[in-house]
Amino acid sequence: MQFGFVAHPTSVNLKRYVKMLDLVQRSTQDYQSGYSQELWSHQNLIPFMNFDRIVSATGAEASGQVCYLPLTAKEMLKNPRLSLKRVIEGANDFAADAADIVGLGGFTSIVGNRGIEVANVSSIPVTSGNSLTAYAGYKALRQVMKWMQLPSANQRVIIAGYPGSIALVITRLLLESGFELDLVHRPGAKPSDLLEHLPEKWHKQVRLSGDIGDFYKDNRFLVAATSAGGIIDPKRLSPGSIVIDVALPRDVAESAALQREDIIVIDGGCVTASDDVRMGGESLNIAIKQQLNACLAETMVLALEGRAETYSIGRTLDTDKVLSIGKIAAKHGFFPDPISSYGRRLEPAKVASFRRYHHTTSVAPSPGEPKINGTKLYSNVHHDTALRFRQHINPYLADFLQTLHCDRVFTKASGVVLTDSEGRDYLDFVAGYGCLNLGHNPPKVVKAVQDFLVGDNPNFVQYISMPQQTSLLAERLCERVGNGMRRVFFSNSGTEAVEAAIKLARAASPHYKILHAENSYHGKTMGALSVTGRDKHKRYFLPLIPGTLCVPFNDLDAMETAMQQRDIAALVLEPILGEGGVHVPSEGYLRGTRELCNRYGVMLILDEVQTGMGRTGRFLASDWEGVDADILCLSKSLSGGLMPIGATLASTEIWDRAYGTSDRFLAHSSTFGGGNLASTAALATLDALDDGTVMANAHQVGEKLRVDLNAISQQYDFIGEIRGKGMMLAVSFDANFSQAIAAGAHEFATRLPGDWHMTWKFLPDQVRKNLLDAMNRFEGTLSEMFCMRFVTKLAMDHGILTFLTANSSTVIRLQPPLILSQDQANRFVSAFRDVCRDMSTFLD
Ligand code: PMP
Repeated sequence: MQFGFVAHPTSVNLKRYVKMLDLVQRSTQDYQSGYSQELWSHQNLIPFMNFDRIVSATGAEASGQVCYLPLTAKEMLKNPRLSLKRVIEGANDFAADAADIVGLGGFTSIVGNRGIEVANVSSIPVTSGNSLTAYAGYKALRQVMKWMQLPSANQRVIIAGYPGSIALVITRLLLESGFELDLVHRPGAKPSDLLEHLPEKWHKQVRLSGDIGDFYKDNRFLVAATSAGGIIDPKRLSPGSIVIDVALPRDVAESAALQREDIIVIDGGCVTASDDVRMGGESLNIAIKQQLNACLAETMVLALEGRAETYSIGRTLDTDKVLSIGKIAAKHGFFPDPISSYGRRLEPAKVASFRRYHHTTSVAPSPGEPKINGTKLYSNVHHDTALRFRQHINPYLADFLQTLHCDRVFTKASGVVLTDSEGRDYLDFVAGYGCLNLGHNPPKVVKAVQDFLVGDNPNFVQYISMPQQTSLLAERLCERVGNGMRRVFFSNSGTEAVEAAIKLARAASPHYKILHAENSYHGKTMGALSVTGRDKHKRYFLPLIPGTLCVPFNDLDAMETAMQQRDIAALVLEPILGEGGVHVPSEGYLRGTRELCNRYGVMLILDEVQTGMGRTGRFLASDWEGVDADILCLSKSLSGGLMPIGATLASTEIWDRAYGTSDRFLAHSSTFGGGNLASTAALATLDALDDGTVMANAHQVGEKLRVDLNAISQQYDFIGEIRGKGMMLAVSFDANFSQAIAAGAHEFATRLPGDWHMTWKFLPDQVRKNLLDAMNRFEGTLSEMFCMRFVTKLAMDHGILTFLTANSSTVIRLQPPLILSQDQANRFVSAFRDVCRDMSTFLD
């Protein structure tokens, strides 16, 4: 069967879009067939889309065409008679074009008394599509309540737009199911007239008002189906409100709604075609299947069902017919879910997490429900945490994690294993970005901390005392590192350790300039950021501290050239670039650097925040070349991953030069740096590393892991390299998408009707340049997406957690706790092999 559909733009912007399509379509035809006066003459309807062959889930077939009447609702309201005339003319044109049924979208049905007047004169059956629209809105509400595990009985819902046909039939469906409703009508209407539309038995279940503001306070569910749109003010909705917005134009404006995290606005009048439905364009991924307006879908479904009958017209729709069209639609593969909000798919978990808003006033949580620190959770740990994180920490990060399926909440941690809130175990190859060298909750460190706490030991007493455990830790660290290290400044993070090192070097030197390496990472406080060799971390914070100089990593000549000026106080260097993508320099680079520092009087600050504490198989990575730092930074795993700590070590000579006078000895300090509790944990951590087995394990298991992964990677072009040392390893990706977009555009430009090459040629230079830039960037993003998919698959398919490095999104870091067993390493190798195979559809 064949259908026609008359749509109209629901906003001025959409009208301009239709206008643009019209212009492009006619120009294309002009390019193809030459100029004709008829082509460029006035049209009643603008052709929008042809569906040449829709095949439904049952195998039924239909075809049809959607056209636009190029008037907004407002414009139609201004001249309803003329608009109706144009709709009728359009319906007749469809009939003449062999359509068997015509559907009317939005106002094109309202201007003719909801389809009645068009049906009266049209030679083919007519539907407003409002039954399926109402069904979709009704179902969305029921679905939402189901996800929130709320019973339907006694729920209050606002229905805005009563007694419009959609609002009215949804009202009847809900009343039948026992809901209490607050019906919002046009101001000035008489209550008795309004109630006439409902059987008397339901009158007790409804309240009426011409002002929706009367109801905001008592309700958190709303169904909005006005014809004019814009009736709901999102700012006034109660926290936790969920609006099913069926109206077109919308009743809740997108921009204002998106400013609130504690409300959800659902696209109410839409359905999505399942994978079983074919609309054409599937293989190019351009089939129009999602978020179809249900009024159009109703027309399609009637055509697929072979029912050329006038289905939904007039104000009063039949509830049975509404439920029935929903069933028929489902049979053909058209469903109200997945549910979306302004076109973005809504996670059931997000909706479910709103349950707590609906409970706080009335229902107390049952005693068995989980708690975090005494705070009651009303759905479950994952949903609640996700919502709180999104609302109060970082919504963009929440989206990022969610898209990549990395939005787990872990509730247990032990050794190499993390357990999520659903009870699934994961091998942790991220290990807190290297702060868990002994694994999660290492028993001996935990015990030391527990003993400290139950022993009522003093933690932070400040400079009115000398901390016992911290002083002992300073001694132990100096002994452990050797190399003339005699003084330690304690802080709370890696970046603070670097900060202290820069200040120490400046205070000890007649010069102030600090040299650092390209692609290095030293932290994100202003000083450490200033010596971090990656612009993407710095660009929003300029200007940073003056006097920093960047040299290429692993290039002794460049280093010497920079030092020859003899005005450099210090060089800050990672022995292996960690966040830069795990780059191990050539043998001799560190020794050469040490010699240059000696020759030119430059202090060598080694940042072993990530490489230290046994990560590469030795206590310090610089131990491999036997190179001594002048100033050494440690952090991350120093306290066994149990609490923040940073340490900056220096010789007596340097420290005295910087701070060894009565004016200077307190020039740098920190309230929380040097607490006895963190030091107690650090002492236990040093004990655990002292017997050497953990570091030997890091070396052996790490080296075998690197060799095994390397063997696999040889077969796959998309793996650049497996690199690193000990258990500081990385996989670099080389999934090249360059020129992909240009090639695709070329294909389309050549094959699509019209002269796109000519259009491209006459684009202004700046537009062309911007488009090319956008393409290049997008291609770069594709490589990153590929790499992230790898991360996702390792976690989802194999229960192994990995992540990217901070400076490069095409490098996956493999930095498990150093206690990783050979079996666990083998598990990783086999997972890696599987994921490589899965991702290897394309080999260059
Ligand atoms: N230096 C290095 C070498 C690091 O890898 C890091 C963190 N990845 C830092 C400094 C900064 O440490 P934090 O995040 O604790 O400030």
